[in-house]
Amino acid sequence: MKIEPPSRCEPIKINSDGSLSVPDHPIIPCIPGDGIGVDIWPATRSVLDAAVKKVYGGGRFLGWMEVPAGGTSLRQMGDLLPEATLEAIRQFRVAIKGPMTTPVGGGFRSINVTLRQKLELYACVRPVRYLPGMPSPMRQPEKVDMIVFRENMEDVYAGIEWQRGTPEAHRFIDFLDKEMGVKVPDDSGVGVKPISETATRRLVRMAIRYAIRTRRNSVTLVHIGNIMKFTEGAFRDWGYLEARENFHDQTVTEEELFTKFNGQCPADSIIIKDRIADSMFQQVLLRPEEYSVLALPNLNGDYLSDALAAQVGGLGMAPGGNIGDDNAVFEATHGTAPKYAGKDVSNPGSLILSGVMMLEHLGWQEAADAVVHALITTIGQKRVTYDLARQLPGSTELKCSDFARAITENL
Ligand code: NAD
Repeated sequence: MKIEPPSRCEPIKINSDGSLSVPDHPIIPCIPGDGIGVDIWPATRSVLDAAVKKVYGGGRFLGWMEVPAGGTSLRQMGDLLPEATLEAIRQFRVAIKGPMTTPVGGGFRSINVTLRQKLELYACVRPVRYLPGMPSPMRQPEKVDMIVFRENMEDVYAGIEWQRGTPEAHRFIDFLDKEMGVKVPDDSGVGVKPISETATRRLVRMAIRYAIRTRRNSVTLVHIGNIMKFTEGAFRDWGYLEARENFHDQTVTEEELFTKFNGQCPADSIIIKDRIADSMFQQVLLRPEEYSVLALPNLNGDYLSDALAAQVGGLGMAPGGNIGDDNAVFEATHGTAPKYAGKDVSNPGSLILSGVMMLEHLGWQEAADAVVHALITTIGQKRVTYDLARQLPGSTELKCSDFARAITENL
């Protein structure tokens, strides 16, 4: 498969201050993905194109450039993630992708994880907001309005692990026994959980900057530092350090709020607080209105963002972006749902909302708002895909492509 930039389009560039310089016709690499990617990607693309056309006339358009990755790429080119694909994303800065298959327990390493590692996409950003009309297991789902910044490259997801019985696993277990005085059963698989100051601070920096830019009132560091003191506990400490050293005038800690400010947050300040991860799962159910921006290490961030997605309508409506200093790749939170692949029934909402995040990232806020508005209107008309239809009494069940058409009509 030949990668060819679309004609009349230009690359996105980065300014010296780190902001993006976006041309009116930016080249956007896209990966349709495996499984239901064949259904939800064309649906998403049609909605995003229609919104941009509606809002900007012909003045702006998205210059899609399909790049190979995943199962199709393996079949056609013998490579799951060709270097040319990585290079295209590096060069053109902003990309969008459908889900890709990863086998459990063996086989190849997750392409999604590899992509994040190779492009240094260190933050997985997942907004969780209730759209009116969505079915939800919560009594007051409108109280949920959070954005998760999940560290994307470290922790137990760094992929540093050895299979039980291999020479590497034996050697590591032996090292722990002889050099560190730690006994691990010999028939164990073993892994390493690194959490660094650098990766923690850049993630928390991104979360605090986001909170300042969008006038959010708090950033919560979520960790299990009571148990894993030097990884999770350090995440918390380095998070507070980042706030103190680089955002001193714009932040107060929850402790200072009471010791210095009588419980009243000074105007234009952001409260930095922390919570133990297990209690946080209760907090987001019982007191969601007290949380806004969340920063978490990788594993806890994965669990919590899926749980939060369920509170506002499930994975079919959960968007995400993998963001680094140089590149951003937007993707739905869910996987390839192989059972539904090619059946034109899946909900493209998650990828459409990931496209909304991409439009916001480009600074095309009017187009992003138009898509959200049309999506809310369509859900309000109870014209939805099967996953929402079975929770919404009196709704009309639409195919994936028809749902996209309905959203386009409502633009
Ligand atoms: P999954 O998210 O693919 O599907 C779980 C279930 O959620 C589906 O059976 C379906 O009922 C529902 N679902 C998911 N997306 C939906 C949508 N858009 N509309 C309606 N219903 C939807 O999770 P899985 O079955 O655990 O994983 C399947 C594959 O996807 C695995 O190979 C896994 O590694 C991969 N995966 C990829 C990504 C990614 O590309 N970022 C993320 C998660 C999982």
